[in-house]
Amino acid sequence: MSVIDKIKRKVNGFEISTKITLGYAACFVTLLAVINLAMWLGVMSALYVPAERTITRSMEHIEKVFAALEMNYMSFDPNAFRGALVAGVVLRAVDERGEVFIDTDENYPSNEMFEAGLLKNPPIFANADFDVAKIGSALIYRNEMDYTHDGETVTLYFFRTITSELILLENLEKSLLMLDVLGVLLAIGLGYALSRKILTPIKTMNELAREIAFEKMGGRIPLGTADDELNELAKTLNEMLDRLQGGISKQQKFVSDASHELRTPAAVIKGYIDFIETYGTADEALLKENLKVIGSEAQNMQALLENLLFLSRTDQHRQKLNKKILDLDDIVGDVMSKMKTVVKTHKVELVKNMPAKIFGDETTIRQMMRIFLDNAVKYTPEGGSIKVSLAVYGEEILLSISDSGIGIAPENQKKIFSRFFRVDSEDLVSEANGSGLGLSIAKWIADNHEIKIFVASALGKGTTFTLRIPKAN
Ligand code: ADP
Repeated sequence: MSVIDKIKRKVNGFEISTKITLGYAACFVTLLAVINLAMWLGVMSALYVPAERTITRSMEHIEKVFAALEMNYMSFDPNAFRGALVAGVVLRAVDERGEVFIDTDENYPSNEMFEAGLLKNPPIFANADFDVAKIGSALIYRNEMDYTHDGETVTLYFFRTITSELILLENLEKSLLMLDVLGVLLAIGLGYALSRKILTPIKTMNELAREIAFEKMGGRIPLGTADDELNELAKTLNEMLDRLQGGISKQQKFVSDASHELRTPAAVIKGYIDFIETYGTADEALLKENLKVIGSEAQNMQALLENLLFLSRTDQHRQKLNKKILDLDDIVGDVMSKMKTVVKTHKVELVKNMPAKIFGDETTIRQMMRIFLDNAVKYTPEGGSIKVSLAVYGEEILLSISDSGIGIAPENQKKIFSRFFRVDSEDLVSEANGSGLGLSIAKWIADNHEIKIFVASALGKGTTFTLRIPKAN
């Protein structure tokens, strides 16, 4: 494994806050290094470049003085040399015997001192043709040229102080370095504290997620005031928990309601069987009566179970609909004629049955019609009337089922489509038995066919359910 891979592995194991801090610290260090380097290069070239330029300029001037001297050697004037120097440059001329015969500044460090302080490895800013010496706290630049006349050669040295504030510069460098280290440490410390604070909501989310269980869904992530991504995430998670909790409690209620509904027929059946066991089967008439009750309760149970299974399929999106173009008038006619043969206690009438094509699933459309018709019979006292009408108005098909029954109070008209809802009233027709699931199934079928259901009802007068069904294209 390469070193890079090893580092990557190590970093992957860090907390996010550590990773962020390290990332920022690395950026900060790089930035500081670039700024420091640029500053150093700037300061150094600001020191060396002018010194080099003044020496070079002075040497050019001196060359001109020598050229003039060649023309007229008798006019030699030491002051001409002095005047050729750019301010700050010191000239020292040495003859073949090593004697100094021109020195424009006698207080300037001697040639020997310069040789002693000569830097073996001058910095990169220094011109390679020049010499650099460190004398005391000063850096001095030097260049030289030879001049030969009449077989005698003299050497001219040009000096210029690069800086006399070397110690100050070095101190400045040290304190800058210390400040850099301090800055980096501070950036790491502050960065770590800040990223930990920013990431606190994630920690809370993690702890909460660990605590949440099926039976313990109440916890929510506390929301901050900031309008940032983490707060947004916390909000989304809280909303998701709300939805899950809602779904779970609905499911729990469904299971408990279903068990409750199943308990009654089971208890009735058990009661009758106990009765038969206790009193025997001698009385044939009584036995038949009991078996009839048991049979009817078992039928209720079966119907209830069918309904429960239907709803559970819809909840799991498993209820299949096989939609095609249907002649609704044929279905209505068929359902009504069957009903007429079965229901003898009520006046059943098909008032209008206009031809109407719809796009739907025949089985569930029939099931929905039967739910409304069964209810009309159940909640209408014997002798009452039930009227059905199928009419087409433009693009709309209206199917209405009216009864002259007990009616539904306005406050209950919305609730009747909820699962297990039943109107609790003493006026209810005595034999009306049901579990409160019929209309919720009818509503699901209607919704899945884009059918709208309207209820018009008056207590004691009757109820009309009108279905607005879209025409098939
Ligand atoms: P149920 O099995 O109780 O009939 P439904 O879901 O079909 O369940 O109906 C829910 C409730 O709505 C019924 O219990 C009844 O109180 C009321 N209801 C439904 N249809 C009618 C109607 N035609 N007339 C009066 N009340 C009705």
